Amino acid sequence: MTDAKETQETHEFQAEVGKLLELMVNSLYREKEIFLRELISNASDACDKLRYAAITESGLLEDDPELKVTIALDKTARTITVADNGIGMNRAELVDNLGTIARSGTEAFIEQLTGDAAEDAALIGQFGVGFYATFMVAKRVEVFARKAGETEGWRWESDGRGAFSVAPDETASRGARIVLHLRKGDDEFLEPARIRTVVKTYSDHIALPIALVGEDGGPETLNEASALWTRPKAEITDAQYQEFYRHVAHLPGEPWHTIHLHAEGRIEYAALLFIPDMPPFDLFDPARQHRVKLYVKRIYITDECEGLVPPYLRFLRGVVDSSDLPLNISRETLQHNPVVAKIRGGLVKRVIAELKKKAEKAPADYAAFWRNFGAVLKEGLYEDESQRGELFEIVRFQSTTSGEDWVSLADYVARAAAGQNAIYYISGGDPAALRKSPQIEGFKARGLEVLLMSEPVDQFWLPAVGSYRDQPFRSVTQGSADLEEFAKPAAPDGEDKDKDKPVPLGEVDKLIALVKLTLGDAVKDVRVSERLTDSPVCLVADEGDLDIHLAQLLRQHRQHTPEQKRILEINPSHALIRVLVAMVGKAGATDALEDAAHLLLDQARILEGEPLPEPGMFSKRLADLLTRSLET
Ligand code: ADP
Repeated sequence: MTDAKETQETHEFQAEVGKLLELMVNSLYREKEIFLRELISNASDACDKLRYAAITESGLLEDDPELKVTIALDKTARTITVADNGIGMNRAELVDNLGTIARSGTEAFIEQLTGDAAEDAALIGQFGVGFYATFMVAKRVEVFARKAGETEGWRWESDGRGAFSVAPDETASRGARIVLHLRKGDDEFLEPARIRTVVKTYSDHIALPIALVGEDGGPETLNEASALWTRPKAEITDAQYQEFYRHVAHLPGEPWHTIHLHAEGRIEYAALLFIPDMPPFDLFDPARQHRVKLYVKRIYITDECEGLVPPYLRFLRGVVDSSDLPLNISRETLQHNPVVAKIRGGLVKRVIAELKKKAEKAPADYAAFWRNFGAVLKEGLYEDESQRGELFEIVRFQSTTSGEDWVSLADYVARAAAGQNAIYYISGGDPAALRKSPQIEGFKARGLEVLLMSEPVDQFWLPAVGSYRDQPFRSVTQGSADLEEFAKPAAPDGEDKDKDKPVPLGEVDKLIALVKLTLGDAVKDVRVSERLTDSPVCLVADEGDLDIHLAQLLRQHRQHTPEQKRILEINPSHALIRVLVAMVGKAGATDALEDAAHLLLDQARILEGEPLPEPGMFSKRLADLLTRSLET
């Protein structure tokens, strides 16, 4: 006794846990029963871990090889006990796992907390916050645990108010036994009928037997206890799929799409895959890891089997269970296993086929998927050449003429103008800004559709891919526009037809010569633009040079990017250019004209989001110009 007291340690909860617990204790959340779902889910994971470890070390199962969860109710003591004989925990694990926040989903939960009790309570139900949910119904929680393969048992205890204690315990058997001392008013959870319903509702998909031990009568198994993915589809309800989704994906809500397949033939496997309806927080983590769990003959092996799902489908959640892999396979060699590669091939085909079906039959629904995961899927365009053709059919874009709709490449090509032999695009960060880019004015005026490539990933696949159905992708901010063959629609009657009429090119040439001379090395060239209608100037990249927005993106990512001079294009139909042309004709080079040349370039730079090399000079010239124009 004195020994135990001496080795009892008291720890404070990590600050985030403290916050969470406070919320639990004061919870207004009505479906408190989810605490049981969370405990059973943990127990099931613990049994999976032990089963895997026992493949190579069968001694871990000791004399207790039937893995199970047991729920015991005690009305006199007013306790509910959830026990498993899984992997268990040692002292250090109890302190780490039940004193800090282990699951990153929980961090996401905490970030979303608003401080409004009712709103926050609703979040609990959606997210499920694991073990800590017990404090919604318990005023005190004890965890008796012993790690498989170790001899010492431990008792963890807390009232959920800032601290917990851990002490040795001789009664703890392998696994974990969680004892909840119920609060007043939560006696409903001592009723077997209530527990039966809760388990059926939330945990029927669990592949392990869940037994209820009431005060009278022997153990009663409450669930089907067969892995959900092995059951025939027709026997599975939507609600069961949904609960399983929450369990494997650790995500709230419902899956956007469920794919359940049993592959037969040379390689046999079952897969139950979900596409979530929201992006998981780590979707753009540099590791680009998928989260599909691999089972072999119903036994959990790993959720880090790299070769099972390609990174561009990493939004998938779920399980794959193969009977063609050896049980004792090492996790390290899995990545290069030919069976895994074949399974991956099958999964990729099936997932893309399902997406294609959705894209064709339910475009609005597909758009929701696309907004969440389109940027990830596009990685496949350059990473998986074998699927490029298929992926091209399901990628979607916004465009200058599509409004809120998403455009497929097939649609784009089908409605392209007569004589158009390229897929025009403009790239950059923000679709709204792209729509206002001066370089697309001429395309718009001629009714030519321009795709908006607004995601960083576009800068990777575009250079790698080149063309779609023989139509090359062409940036409208690069090279010459070649628009003269596309007629501009005539101005409607009654409008001033001379308004947009360009000044004769011979006169413009004089202005161009002057601007070139003034700007010198600052630009690669100065020329008349075909792509402008409303703006006086714009910058474009020379054919073969780096696209302006690509260069910006690379610089943001601190990649070495050569400084390349840009071409300044000027719009001879614009009023400002016409005035300048007239001034050159009358007076030749003047200080005012030279200032104007610099200002034209700086203006074009600002439009592209390029830094001004001499902001002070820009400011001075602008001030001078304003003064002159306002004085007269
Ligand atoms: P999560 O299950 O999402 O990780 P929890 O707060 O429910 O979050 O649990 C934290 C950790 O505690 C788990 O990841 C696991 O390592 C450990 N744990 C919880 N319950 C058990 C159990 N019954 N047996 C063994 N380990 C457990």
